[in-house]
Amino acid sequence: MKPHPKEETTFVLIKPDGVRRGLAGEVIRRIERAGLKIVALEMHQSSKEEIDRHYPKDEAWITRLGEKTLSTYEKYGFDAKEEMGTDKAEKIGPQVRGWLIDYMTSGPVVKIVVQGVHAVDMIRKLAGNTQPALAEMGTIRGDYSVDSAASANKDKRAIHNLIHASETAEEAAHEIEHWGMKGKIHIYTRIEEGL
Ligand code: ADP
Ligand code: MG
Repeated sequence: MKPHPKEETTFVLIKPDGVRRGLAGEVIRRIERAGLKIVALEMHQSSKEEIDRHYPKDEAWITRLGEKTLSTYEKYGFDAKEEMGTDKAEKIGPQVRGWLIDYMTSGPVVKIVVQGVHAVDMIRKLAGNTQPALAEMGTIRGDYSVDSAASANKDKRAIHNLIHASETAEEAAHEIEHWGMKGKIHIYTRIEEGL
């Protein structure tokens, strides 16, 4: 039987721009006020190798990175061949992945394990769209950042969007393990759980 929905866990990283902008508290506040429970928390300076292992390596995922570039190029009228030397998502993706490793190792991150009802989807909803310029106001990325693939790629860097959040329960389980947080989870009840 599947566990109770309130036992679902997910993984969040406050990215180096979030930490350096002093937004760690704000991110944590938004998670807590939504009724989600923080069950593990730690600051960490990542190595390139750790980030390389954190993000998927499969072709579909890497191509999806390139597609984000192509979609904003189309929306804002940029020529992919002129800007990136190619209009193939699968060729743009690997370049973006490299920039992502540089970005994610540019300063400390905060690792957070979050538990609560449909935690994975709830945190994705709090985070907002990958591209802050497309993220709704009221989301963390929409309220505190403005960036897009078109802008980031022009500067040969990854999109700065303050936080990482697991996309699926499987991704969350992999990431909690990968970031060494499995043995650091605290079990307690929040007042509103009524236990
Ligand atoms: P999300 O973080 O919303 O799950 P992805 O998993 O698709 O998004 O991408 C991982 C991270 O890579 C993003 O959060 C963003 O920082 C960066 N990124 C994604 N696509 C691009 C792109 N086309 N150009 C630059 N950076 C990108
Ligand atoms: Mg992702």
